[in-house]
This record gives sequence, C-alpha cells and structure tokens, in this order.
Amino acid sequence: MSNIKIECPAYFEPTKEEISWLGSLPDAAHEVQTRLYCELELGHSGRHCSLGQSQDVGTEQTCWWVWWSDGTGRAIEECDPCPAAGSDGLEEDLLCLLPVGHVGKHRF
Ligand SMILES: [Zn+2]
Ligand SMILES: [Zn+2]
Repeated sequence: MSNIKIECPAYFEPTKEEISWLGSLPDAAHEVQTRLYCELELGHSGRHCSLGQSQDVGTEQTCWWVWWSDGTGRAIEECDPCPAAGSDGLEEDLLCLLPVGHVGKHRF
C-alpha cells in the first residue's frame, strides 16, 4: 500500500446557485469549493463523484455528493457512506470516505 493517491483528474466548477445552495444547508460543515475534484480512482468507470457538502447534526452526518459525467450534466444526491472498513497501516477501523455504491477502490 502506498500513500501516493492516484486519483481521477476530473473536476467541475459548481454554479453560483449550487454553491449557495450547498452553503446554505443547515449545519453545513464545509466551505463549498469553487472547484470540486473527483474523489474516485484514476480510470474508474461510470460517473465521477465529489463530496459537495456534509451536515453534522449531533452524531448524525448527512453527506451530499455531486455525481457527474462528461456531457450529461450532474446530480446532487444525499448518499449514505460506503460501509467498507479498512486500515491505512497507522490507525485501525477506518471507514471508507466515499459514498455507498461508488466504483473503484475504497478510500480511507
Ligand atoms: Zn472521476
Ligand atoms: Zn468504499
């Protein structure tokens, strides 16, 4: 296992409306980036995806993922986290950071 992540280079730039919508969610955890990079592995199949926003309410976390593919627009969807667990060699019991149903390798 290597610490060098080889990831898909795809990205998109959300519109002002998308940024303000993601930024206006209650208990939004992040500043919305003006450029969102795909978080899947290089050469994956299917749609690209990137975390647009997460909401932390107590111990509950709601994650909004943006899915897109070349030329067919995009969708912002609330997704449960991928249930896979693993280890990076330093810490145990890491959970995959990607949404359930993602393609490619898990990411910890
Ligand atoms: Zn991608
Ligand atoms: Zn996973």
